[in-house]
Amino acid sequence: MTDETPICSAKGCRAAAVWVLAWNNPKLHTPERRKTWLACEEHREHLSQFLGLRGFLKDVVTLAEWRQREQGSDSAADR
Ligand SMILES: [Zn+2]
Repeated sequence: MTDETPICSAKGCRAAAVWVLAWNNPKLHTPERRKTWLACEEHREHLSQFLGLRGFLKDVVTLAEWRQREQGSDSAADR
């Protein structure tokens, strides 16, 4: 992720993202891989339902918490 203001991943939505939905499609990704969607307050439920119905959803955290996690992990080397 960059330092630019992240935008919600919902189609047509330009709102600032507040939530990070971490997901994994076992048909495409190794189990430890995490794809992320960003969601504003309004779309968090819609997007997490979409992923949840398919069994892809792993985690829903605030953007602030997600960034803290990334800093705490090995990706800190990217900074
Ligand atoms: Zn949105």
